Amino acid sequence: MTEFRGPTATRLRNFVREVQDGKCILCPLPITNIHHIQPWRKFPELLLDLKNMVGACRSHHLLLESMPYDQQHQLIVETRCQQ
Ligand SMILES: [Zn+2]
Repeated sequence: MTEFRGPTATRLRNFVREVQDGKCILCPLPITNIHHIQPWRKFPELLLDLKNMVGACRSHHLLLESMPYDQQHQLIVETRCQQ
């Protein structure tokens, strides 16, 4: 698989939405994107790995996309701990 599509991707999307209660990992806005923490174009084996996925709103998806893995991880952990 080279794209995050199809029945398995849909199930994973729905699961991420459910565990995050439909809300972005970093704010209360609704999830618009499933973000892959490690980019799946670089790590295709992580395309369907739930541990590599978070739900994000549009702007946080763009923010996370622009950050290296360690910074994303730190930001997510810090945000989750404050909530
Ligand atoms: Zn957000």
